[in-house]
Amino acid sequence: MELKRQTCQGCGSREHHNVLRRGEEHPLTVYVICARCKELVARYKLDSYYHHGKGFESWLRRQGASESGRDLATAFGEVSHSSVAEFADVMSELASLDKDL
Ligand SMILES: [Zn+2]
Repeated sequence: MELKRQTCQGCGSREHHNVLRRGEEHPLTVYVICARCKELVARYKLDSYYHHGKGFESWLRRQGASESGRDLATAFGEVSHSSVAEFADVMSELASLDKDL
């Protein structure tokens, strides 16, 4: 596993804003913008999105209608659990590398 903290190539800041764009013509896209110098730091195009703490209804609106309610509830439980678990792993790995946020 490789962990990299996003750093502004312009000013070296690690403080950023995430701006999300979604629409019919575009996959969900995240623009990472430097909080200090306002330059674009990175762009991510996502095929999966989970917003921790927003709950099942919010997550459900982003899913296709091809799955049953039971399958969606199971999938939400899995994505919620795996997101928290992955976050814990990332924070632990950063700490072991003596890197703070
Ligand atoms: Zn910057």
